[in-house]
Amino acid sequence: MSDPKVELRVPSDVVDVIERLHEAGFEAYVVGGCVRDALLHLEPKDWDVATNALPADIQKRFRRSLYTNRFGTVIVQTPEREVEVTTYRLESEYSDHRHPDAVAFTHSLYEDLARRDFTINAMAWDGRLRDPHAGARDLRDRLIRAVGDPNERFREDALRMLRAVRFATTLGFRIEETTTAAIRANAELMRAVSGERIQQELRRILAVPKPSGAFRLMSELGLAAVIFPELDQARDVPQEKAAAQDVFGHLLATLDATPQDDVVLRLAGLLHDIGKPDTYQDGHFYQHEYVGEAKTKRILRRWKFPKDEIEQVCHLVRNHMFWYQDEWTESAVRRFIRKVGLENIPTLFALRRADNIGSGARQPRMVKLEQLWGRVADELNKENAFSLRDLKIDGNGVMAALAVPPGPVVGRTLNWLFEQVLDDPSLNQPERLLALIREHREELLRPPHEQRRGEAAN
Ligand code: ATP
Ligand code: MG
Repeated sequence: MSDPKVELRVPSDVVDVIERLHEAGFEAYVVGGCVRDALLHLEPKDWDVATNALPADIQKRFRRSLYTNRFGTVIVQTPEREVEVTTYRLESEYSDHRHPDAVAFTHSLYEDLARRDFTINAMAWDGRLRDPHAGARDLRDRLIRAVGDPNERFREDALRMLRAVRFATTLGFRIEETTTAAIRANAELMRAVSGERIQQELRRILAVPKPSGAFRLMSELGLAAVIFPELDQARDVPQEKAAAQDVFGHLLATLDATPQDDVVLRLAGLLHDIGKPDTYQDGHFYQHEYVGEAKTKRILRRWKFPKDEIEQVCHLVRNHMFWYQDEWTESAVRRFIRKVGLENIPTLFALRRADNIGSGARQPRMVKLEQLWGRVADELNKENAFSLRDLKIDGNGVMAALAVPPGPVVGRTLNWLFEQVLDDPSLNQPERLLALIREHREELLRPPHEQRRGEAAN
């Protein structure tokens, strides 16, 4: 099927790429997501071209081009952008539902379109629209429909099931019935999909204004049970703050209330109470932030998120339970700063704000947080000792004062002194610190396990 009437606004540098290939006697089309987006009057993220020219032929036509992989894609540099020019490919065997075993090229645009996941992603344009799977109609009806037999397509590559959820979410479309049924039937196959590929789709899902719908859909379709069982586990676990809400609903409402462009905060919103189902007892969730931190780490490692993002999310989950009161002393404020880390306080407050909204607060109660922020600023202005480095004594000083060689006692002593200074910044002078050491010499020299026994006896 082709519809000559359809006009597509393709940037001139991309048209140039297509025309250069035409002039050399090849076929060339813009294809896939960019055709879909252009028909929807959305700005395509990138412009992809498909052609019957082989990678070597493509490279010959474009001086500024790069062939880096074995999938037939040559990256062509135009003055405006990088255009991915890809030789027509066949569906290759996805024997383990994970990786294409090999690429096989074809001379047929129609075979290339037939291997694509959804009808709306299987259109091509070279001045005329090529739409053999009626993708334009599904665009109009706002439907995500697999190309061909959905069961077969999901067996070839199980990630497509999560991509269906992703496109439904980013475009606000429905997944068509037989495609939906095939997802339910094949959800288990997602178990074999690599964490990296799952992460890639999740990132795109998390970047929509309200991603909760995608996670609800994943749960309803049985995909969450396979790749994110911890979320399903939060269903029917009551949330203490609002009677009508369960932890599942609270996590998703909090997720929606986090800033769209901050994947760390989004993940923290989604996961901050993930420890609750495991710790629920008599209406309380004792220490759920620590259980939640451990679960968060497991989940994000499973999806192969980068280490620094995992660390930031875990830190937020662990620290999200702080409860500020006017009665906090100055040293309590300082301890809070030290525990959380100054640089993390704005993010932690942003999470709290989302958490409040996620609990049903129409106007998030931010007054207390603003007060706390003011007090944090006050403490910083006082230039107190905030890190061990600012302590007016170092390891050598400690060793001299205690007359001990290097060893664990030195670090323990520095930490202990630091705690004292946090409580009373005026102690941070060399003579006063030395006096403290002398005064507490015996305790400081006692190994820690004996100290604990000593405390228990008091
Ligand atoms: P976006 O605009 O978010 O990049 P997209 O449609 O371009 O969306 P990509 O993941 O960039 O999505 O893939 C480009 C095209 O390649 C898709 O439109 C689709 O035709 C095809 N495609 C990608 N992944 C698959 C897959 N796993 N199975 C079949 N076809 C796929
Ligand atoms: Mg794309």
